[in-house]
Amino acid sequence: MFRSLRMKLAMIMLMLVASQMTIVGAFLTTGANSFYMNGFYRQLNSVFGLDQREFVADLRNAAGEDNGAESLRKMLDANAGPLGIDYRTRNYFVLDGDTGNWLAGSAGAESLPMEQSPNLLAARAAVARGDASAVGDESYLNADYLDAAIPILSEERSFIIYILDNQETLSGLNRQLFHIILQSLVMGLVITAFLSFLLAKTMVGPLEKLTAGAEEVAAGNFDTELPVESEDEIGILTGTFNEMAGVLHTTLDQIENERTKLDTLFLYMTDGVVAFDTGGAVIHCNPAAKNMLQRKVEIGSRYDELFGGLFAFADVLSLKRPRHAEGEMAVGERTLELYLAPFLHQRLGGVLVVLHDVTERRRNEERRKEFVANVSHELRTPLTNVRSYAETLRDAGGSIPPDMSDGFLDIIISETDRMTNIVQDLLILSRLDAGNTEMAFKPFPFGEAIESVVRANALNARARNHELTFRAEGELPCVEGDRNRLEQVMTNIIGNAIKYTPDGGHIRVTAGVTGDRKQVWMDVWDDGIGIPEESRGRVFERFYRVDKARSRESGGTGLGLSIAREIVQRHNGALTLPPHDGPGTTVRMTIPISQKARKGAKRRDAERRNAASDASGGKGGAA
Ligand code: ADP
Repeated sequence: MFRSLRMKLAMIMLMLVASQMTIVGAFLTTGANSFYMNGFYRQLNSVFGLDQREFVADLRNAAGEDNGAESLRKMLDANAGPLGIDYRTRNYFVLDGDTGNWLAGSAGAESLPMEQSPNLLAARAAVARGDASAVGDESYLNADYLDAAIPILSEERSFIIYILDNQETLSGLNRQLFHIILQSLVMGLVITAFLSFLLAKTMVGPLEKLTAGAEEVAAGNFDTELPVESEDEIGILTGTFNEMAGVLHTTLDQIENERTKLDTLFLYMTDGVVAFDTGGAVIHCNPAAKNMLQRKVEIGSRYDELFGGLFAFADVLSLKRPRHAEGEMAVGERTLELYLAPFLHQRLGGVLVVLHDVTERRRNEERRKEFVANVSHELRTPLTNVRSYAETLRDAGGSIPPDMSDGFLDIIISETDRMTNIVQDLLILSRLDAGNTEMAFKPFPFGEAIESVVRANALNARARNHELTFRAEGELPCVEGDRNRLEQVMTNIIGNAIKYTPDGGHIRVTAGVTGDRKQVWMDVWDDGIGIPEESRGRVFERFYRVDKARSRESGGTGLGLSIAREIVQRHNGALTLPPHDGPGTTVRMTIPISQKARKGAKRRDAERRNAASDASGGKGGAA
């Protein structure tokens, strides 16, 4: 209760008034006491002081008379006024100088103090010494009376004039003062209580409103604007508070906006972002990072568990120049590129780790390197042959028999043809990779196309004593596609069957429509050398050949099936190796009858183009 400003103010004011009145009261009573005491001694002095030697001498003379005590009484009676004797509170007594017994006085002996006062004792001692000058007029403030004892010595007898004031007047005055002070105090307290109420209303009221407003703002409610009711300091404070709340609101809005922006950015960005506080605990981790790290990352997860193997947390936190560190780590089959940088703001801060999935890029780089190595290797062999035969012809001059030199020249021509084939195939692949090959999609009769390819290959088949047949299962529809390219694919597959089947083999081409009538298919079955199980998954790779020597012998480049697959895929179809019973191979091509999904194909082309430019690192090229 006493903790409220209102109560504190009231208490302070009440205490102020009470202490003020106490001080005033103390000064007043002390002042009244000393005034009274001083008055007492002034009066004594005016009768018995040094200026009044004659009166004192008269007193001594009177003391020498027979009825000295009575004479002294009369003289004192005559001076009752100057001495302030009122016969009630102040009296005089004529005492025997030797015994101190009451002889006469303005009041009876019963009015004397029970115990002899120090002044009286001092006066009696002076009488005993015969010292008439001593006047016992010391005041004893702790006594409840004021007194003075004056020894009067004559030759015959000695007396003591004893003036006694029982301070009743003073007590009455003090009592009255006390009552006045008490009344003033009560009135003062009442006025103070009223004033403090007014003060509290004008001062504490606005402060309480301000406090309530501050509590609202602290609770996040910025809409309450406090009314400015005065132009004093509190009014200024209220105005400033309103301004501050407004600025705070705007700033918080901006921060919130920035935070939402960042949250959205982190949520949808493809790069992973993990933030750690200065203690190395995760404070933020976006879905991409969780996906890349392939583990549960929660708020509070430790840096050491995630990236401790790369860089020590303290080292990253203290990075100066450069302000970031780079690293790479493998997670499962993925390769992640990492950028670690400290961020600091005053005492807060931490470490930010950005993760970039470079698996595809690395794979593409690998493929490119492999491809370049393959291309160089494929070209080097025929080039070496060409060079060595040409050198032999040149060095021999005319000494080589004409049929031998013709044979050499035939080899040179066939090797050059092979190189031309490789370069042409590479060119086709490069165009397909870059998405630059425009497909002329037109409906054409599927069965007719197969027949024409089979016819074109009949001569080759016959040359190897193969039995090449074609059978359509049901009626074959027209399909939408680039006839020339698809015939190229068919030629490649049938050509391979002819190539990789020992002489006198059987090659059966069949075609039909799938059950859902959305696609057509073509199977090329042979009973040739077949493809070993371990190579089945690789024959569509560039330059892959099961038997390099045999392929080369037959003029193969190892690119035929990869080109064929690219073309079929551009038709949204598929080239597969279905299960084959017995020796030999079956290659299946499936193509959609209609290219309604060509939009999808176009999108894939665009993606392919991007991937290709990514893989070549912007340097171009057909890899
Ligand atoms: P190539 O120019 O060498 O024929 P391809 O890309 O057309 O290249 O074929 C890749 C490899 O697949 C061939 O070298 C061959 O070893 C194997 N292959 C393709 N078709 C057949 C098949 N019908 N029978 C056996 N092996 C085949």
